[in-house]
Amino acid sequence: MEGRTYTADAEPGDEVTVAGWVHEKRDLGGIAFLILRDTSGKIQVKFEKDEMDDDLVETGLDAHRESVLSVSGTVKEEPRAPTGVEVVPESIDVLAAADPELPLDPSGKVDAELPTRLDNRTLDLRKDEVKAIFEIRAEILRAARDTFRALGCTEINTPKIVATGTEGGTELFPITYFGEEAFMNQSPQLFKQLMAGSGLERVFEIGPIFRAEEHNTPRHLNEAHSIDFEGAFCDHHEAMDAAEAVTTAAYDAVAENCEEQLEALGMAEEFDVPDGDFPRLSYEEALERINATGELDEHLVWGDDLSTEAEHVLGQEVGEHYFITDWPSEVKPFYIKDHDDDEELSTGFDMMHPRMELVSGGAREHRHEKLIEGFEQQGLDPEEFEYYTKMFRYGMPPHAGWGMGAERLVMTVLELENIREAVLFPRDRQRLSP
Ligand code: ATP
Ligand code: MG
Repeated sequence: MEGRTYTADAEPGDEVTVAGWVHEKRDLGGIAFLILRDTSGKIQVKFEKDEMDDDLVETGLDAHRESVLSVSGTVKEEPRAPTGVEVVPESIDVLAAADPELPLDPSGKVDAELPTRLDNRTLDLRKDEVKAIFEIRAEILRAARDTFRALGCTEINTPKIVATGTEGGTELFPITYFGEEAFMNQSPQLFKQLMAGSGLERVFEIGPIFRAEEHNTPRHLNEAHSIDFEGAFCDHHEAMDAAEAVTTAAYDAVAENCEEQLEALGMAEEFDVPDGDFPRLSYEEALERINATGELDEHLVWGDDLSTEAEHVLGQEVGEHYFITDWPSEVKPFYIKDHDDDEELSTGFDMMHPRMELVSGGAREHRHEKLIEGFEQQGLDPEEFEYYTKMFRYGMPPHAGWGMGAERLVMTVLELENIREAVLFPRDRQRLSP
């Protein structure tokens, strides 16, 4: 809009046109106020009824809350106004009228349940604390991209419609692709590996993953975003370093660049940046520490996967981000490499926040015969993956990588209770629209 001034930039003495939403109205009789809100903040508009044109006063005061107005006038200093200045209007245009009844109250005076908020995200994001989550999410993704670039990675985009799954058949969403069965991709795993073996060597992708998880939990979505890294000539230690770097960069960026947003979320005082030296516990040590707490009913033994409860117990024990390394080969997927001197032990790792898993990764099996064996052990038909396996016959370097849930990162950085808070339009068992 030509000549528009953001409310935050309006200075006493300026002739301005400000535009935004009617946040609040207060009619005190001879004098009335309207608070106009835009993305930069809010400003008071003052109506002195006896001194102003009736039409002008009526236009301003008849507009229902959340209507969109453009107000032209003079900015005056006013110590009693919320921001110390106010606009004395000369003309007002109603750009879009809002209904008198709203499905939720953007001023936040009336609390709304999450489903109502998700059904009305446009209105929901007019609240500072909700808008802040998505501004911070964008900042976290920017920090991740910058970190990857500093690590020498190239950003890639791989297909989301695929012929086969990689992480086990039950979690796949089937679709019809010109009369043939296809699937929504669960992970860019195989494609990013193919690119680590290309001339690009180090790659990253930030893109959607689709998982037909049956259960509704506060940390699972059916459509999530994965931050993926894959590096040729990297081992699992270097891959863990990269996961640590992206995570700490996310916290750093929020601490440095999102003060206003943290303020809106009531977190500015106690926002802590992790030091980036996350303890690396072996799976075996993890089992011992969990068992030693005596807080689980069962005694965990080698080969057990860690239940949500076990993860919580260990998270409380460790009290900061940490890695679980050296998982038994049998609980990790076929593409994870085993230790050279022990076939039962994999190079697979998980990076954990005390509340939940954030990352899974590992060094990859790059030897063709071993890879084919792995497919067969996992009950997958290597023929179906020939586009992938054949590249391991044409010079596939050792490589390692990981996938990190973007929403889980945002959720843990901001201590959100429910992962859906970190997604504009979540997909779960109940939600396919909007
Ligand atoms: P979990 O055991 O917590 O369900 P996973 O081990 O099945 O996760 P991976 O296949 O290891 O998940 O995916 C790598 C990362 O992607 C996870 O650590 C997590 O951060 C994220 N992720 C995976 N599935 C989901 C999901 N359904 N919703 C949100 N994030 C997910
Ligand atoms: Mg995992």
